[in-house]
Amino acid sequence: MIPGSFAYHRPTSIAEAVGLLADLGEDARALAGGHSLIPMMKLRLASPSHLVDLAGVSDLKGIRVEGGDIVIGAMTTQCDLLASEQLSAKIPILRETSLLIADPQVRYVGTLGGNVANGDPGNDMPAVMMCLDASYEVAGKARKRRISARDFYKGAYVTALAPGEIVTAVRIPVPAQGHGFAYEKLKRKVGDYATAAAAVVLVISGGKVASCSIGLTNVADTPLYAREAGMVLVGTALDEAAVVETVRRARAIASPAADLRGPVEFRVHVAGIMVRRAILRAKERAR
Ligand SMILES: Cc1cc2nc3c(=O)[nH]c(=O)nc-3n(C[C@H](O)[C@H](O)[C@H](O)COP(=O)(O)OP(=O)(O)OC[C@H]3O[C@@H](n4cnc5c(N)ncnc54)[C@H](O)[C@@H]3O)c2cc1C
Repeated sequence: MIPGSFAYHRPTSIAEAVGLLADLGEDARALAGGHSLIPMMKLRLASPSHLVDLAGVSDLKGIRVEGGDIVIGAMTTQCDLLASEQLSAKIPILRETSLLIADPQVRYVGTLGGNVANGDPGNDMPAVMMCLDASYEVAGKARKRRISARDFYKGAYVTALAPGEIVTAVRIPVPAQGHGFAYEKLKRKVGDYATAAAAVVLVISGGKVASCSIGLTNVADTPLYAREAGMVLVGTALDEAAVVETVRRARAIASPAADLRGPVEFRVHVAGIMVRRAILRAKERAR
């Protein structure tokens, strides 16, 4: 339960942070809220020789509107997301999801950047970001770039980040006014990771679904964007046959491992139920 020894660095700018990460090499890790990394270090599943703490980099904090996007700094905590009235009004699924992450103590320090960059398929925000078609602003010592959330996750704890790069912000296109949304998560107890969870964002126009996207949490090595499942609903009035087919297609891409949360068949079954519930609740909310 005691981490290995490490050197602690506290940069005050993005340039300094990525410079340190590049210069210190593979043995260095970024530290955000520490609520995934520190437990891993205590279990000796991670033993970085250097921690580069991002807490002193003020440019990584805050929520701003840029054109049709909302841009959230990577060091913005889950608690900050809950406190933002602007965010709750424009992208309410973020509030709904944040409230289902862990407990208030974790949310007080856990960051959005850490949640999306961690690469744990159990983290809740990645599937929501895929559903919202968000992208991650990334900085390294030599370049800045933007990576779509839908292209970011490559395997368990493997992401598209190159060595030395950090996520500086999450950029989310504001969904259409009156969109329907829901994040449904089955967990064994308060504060637990999902047995399976589903995010749905849809727009209804003239009684028919104009667009629908679906993301899945913790039912594969990576969060999943259920593109085909979402497409099934487009053009329908969300009739039962369309919902059944959507659930079938979402289940078809789920490939969870058996673990303490249940055997494979159970977790796939739960994924289907979460998708159905999320669709129906999103429908109720759509105007
Ligand atoms: C009891 C408990 C219950 C939890 N339950 C849930 C849950 O239900 N759902 C959920 O989603 N999460 C859950 N978490 C995890 C929590 O939300 C974490 O805070 C979050 O996953 C990681 O954010 P962090 O800021 O703590 O990152 P850290 O732990 O500091 O970092 C995590 C990883 O991401 C990297 N990293 C951090 N920031 C960046 C960045 N800006 N750019 C690049 N890499 C970066 C770090 O190097 C590290 O590898 C739980 C944690 C605990 C302790």
